[in-house]
Amino acid sequence: MHPHDVRVDHLPPEGATFDVRLDAAAATALLRERGLSEPLEARELSARIRVIPGGDDVFVLGELQGAVVGPCSRCLETCEQPLGGEFHLTFVHGNVPGEGGEMELHREDMDLELLQGDSIDLDAVVAEQLFLQLPTRAVCSEECRGLCPVCGGNRNDMPCACGDSTPDPRFAALAALRGSGAVSDD
Ligand SMILES: [Zn+2]
Ligand SMILES: [Zn+2]
Repeated sequence: MHPHDVRVDHLPPEGATFDVRLDAAAATALLRERGLSEPLEARELSARIRVIPGGDDVFVLGELQGAVVGPCSRCLETCEQPLGGEFHLTFVHGNVPGEGGEMELHREDMDLELLQGDSIDLDAVVAEQLFLQLPTRAVCSEECRGLCPVCGGNRNDMPCACGDSTPDPRFAALAALRGSGAVSDD
């Protein structure tokens, strides 16, 4: 049996805690397997996951720690984006009978997953969280000034003079009008 397959019918009533680790190569391979278009690489991921039986359901609470490395969306410099977030999942059996009020309360604030057989694959849980927690837009720093649209220089490294010589688009429009003779210049 897979080491991170947790048999839910063997859990003690108070639940059990598992540490799942995914090395950088395995985590990066996951990103590639899913066809992620961004050139991201993952650092080592780890998660401490508590699995608690709750009647017909199984609650999975955890926290993912790790990081991905990729280009900043503004300056393109490689930067590390920390991941880290708690997650709360509820695994339910395929044939869920009528839902009681108490259960609905849980289901409102927890993501539902379908229990496949009698076990939960914690590696799959960590893989899913890796994708859910990926930054939508990586930035090296909130203050990143990005690349100059004129000379392409990294404005974090060196201020360039383009800012001064770039014509204000409003003046450019005015100049175009003048060129066409629409505005007289006397
Ligand atoms: Zn940047
Ligand atoms: Zn410039």
